[in-house]
Amino acid sequence: MRTIGLIGGMSWESTVEYYRLINRGVRDRLGALHSARLLLDSLDFSVIAACQREGDWDGAGVLLAESARRLHAGGAECILIGANTMHRVADTVASATPLPLIHIVDATGHAIRAQGLDTMLLLGTAFTMEQPFFRERMQRDHGVRCLVPEPAQRAELHRVIYEELCAGQFRPQAREFLLGRIADGVRAGAQGAILGCTELGLLLGDAEAGVPVFDTAALHAAAAVAFALA
Ligand code: GLU
Repeated sequence: MRTIGLIGGMSWESTVEYYRLINRGVRDRLGALHSARLLLDSLDFSVIAACQREGDWDGAGVLLAESARRLHAGGAECILIGANTMHRVADTVASATPLPLIHIVDATGHAIRAQGLDTMLLLGTAFTMEQPFFRERMQRDHGVRCLVPEPAQRAELHRVIYEELCAGQFRPQAREFLLGRIADGVRAGAQGAILGCTELGLLLGDAEAGVPVFDTAALHAAAAVAFALA
């Protein structure tokens, strides 16, 4: 089994989920007492979030590249950035070590195309919904077009992610808000929704959205398990 290197803490609420999903995936494949070989480098999210707010993506890239190098030095055989937003600096992280970077957009794009779908509502932070790094790779490499909510709804979703979900608050109102945005997206032509923020799956749980929902954290974790056991 190969060792997974996870850059976590962005936020730690979803890093816990990555850890659980990766270990469960290995157990499902190998049997009862098996668990993943995994190194976690968990960052202080307040530092990363400050870089995001200030638009200091170069600074954030340096911090994540250092994290990747620590994982490499510790024996990791691949790198995962455990957040969608910080894939904004995926190229910087990928070039920091010789290890393969398992990209969250690719894990998600493959799952969408496997279901024969090509138009999705993208839900995530304002950075993920508005900047090109997620949508362009999804369109270019996977042929999947991403729609996004209206500006006021994007701002509210961004607020919910940082003020509630990353702070460990998972409220029914936020869940209803998310389901409402998915319904809007479907009316606008989306065939399903991408939970393009790694905390959103924790909020939605088993809620029935009525359309396919792609949880990036779960798909990213599954891709890591596939790599580890290949
Ligand atoms: N975990 C979130 C994501 O997947 C948001 C936190 C962050 O900005 O990194 O984008």
